[in-house]
Amino acid sequence: MKKLSDLEAEIKRCSKCGKCQEVCPVYKITGNDCAVTRGKFIMLSGVLKGDLKLNKTIEKYLDLCTKCGKCKDFCPSGINVCEIFNIAKHECINKSFSGKIIKLFQSRKIFNNFLKMGQLFKHNKNLTNGSTKVLYFKGCVNKLYPKSENALKKILLNFDVELLEKDFDCCGIPFLSSGNIERYEEAKNFNLKLLDDNYDYVITDCASCENTIRNYKANAEYSQKIINVFDLIVLQDKKFVYNKPLKVTFHKPCHLESDAFLKPLLEKCKNIEYIESKDYDECCGFAGEFALKNPKLSFRLTQRKAENLSKTGADVILTTCPACIIGIRQGFLGKKHPKILNITEFLAMADQII
Ligand code: SF4
Ligand code: SF4
Repeated sequence: MKKLSDLEAEIKRCSKCGKCQEVCPVYKITGNDCAVTRGKFIMLSGVLKGDLKLNKTIEKYLDLCTKCGKCKDFCPSGINVCEIFNIAKHECINKSFSGKIIKLFQSRKIFNNFLKMGQLFKHNKNLTNGSTKVLYFKGCVNKLYPKSENALKKILLNFDVELLEKDFDCCGIPFLSSGNIERYEEAKNFNLKLLDDNYDYVITDCASCENTIRNYKANAEYSQKIINVFDLIVLQDKKFVYNKPLKVTFHKPCHLESDAFLKPLLEKCKNIEYIESKDYDECCGFAGEFALKNPKLSFRLTQRKAENLSKTGADVILTTCPACIIGIRQGFLGKKHPKILNITEFLAMADQII
């Protein structure tokens, strides 16, 4: 496993240009350079030189990050920012008592037993006999709250698809974000054993799971088979008919690599008008652990997201990440708001699928 010192040369490649400030949702609200990549790299360089200690203050600044990855995509030096943050967090949690508690809760047995509670509400629809074999990677939120899973199964009943299910571990992204790299590796290796070749596609209905499992291996043949369910639906010759006209808008989750499916998918939906929201691809501000550690800041970010979505006048807000749904709901807290749905739930609401 890499150490922070192994990444010193990568950190030194930061030219301090400050371009990351332009895209960082946390910097845009706080204006604090320590909250954005440039400032974090200056602190980590100090740690590597021995001028600073990797203490609680630096950990607090590392936690001021939604892990949206925008700075990585935008950085002119092409620095692998996310890897540096994850390794630095790993070194922080290995030193602290709170890190031990996080690791205990994230242990496979405790974490997965907690998620099993949601399986009481799952609809068991059997989807066999299809000519396209798809393996469903069910994310943790679906295990706990299977609304999107139930919708996905309802939609797929209309297609020539055989849905295969396996008892996967979490994709691992929450472990990686909290610096628990050992637990991420455990989940990855467990899941990779189940991701054998007996399927045409692996589908997910969660942008974070899709991105994480695709990055398990740098192998084009493997990664091309990991798709989201909407890419699969776009390939089907079916239309979704809504009796009542509806206006919809869309929030693009940070981990959704491409939303190229959205336009062709909405073209298949009859009686639907799409209205793009301002900053539709900016982080919702929830980001799991970020919201727990920075509740006030998370609330401000989610409120701004909710305002932008609300201004479209849409009847329904669509997204493809269960955590973003929680974030957008948080942004509307105490206010009347449109329906906020995973696209699976929206498609399952159609009056006819023909
Ligand atoms: S954009 Fe990249 S090179 Fe520029 S300051 Fe940020 S991390 Fe450094
Ligand atoms: S990952 Fe997102 S929130 Fe974190 S520093 Fe980069 S741009 Fe800011």
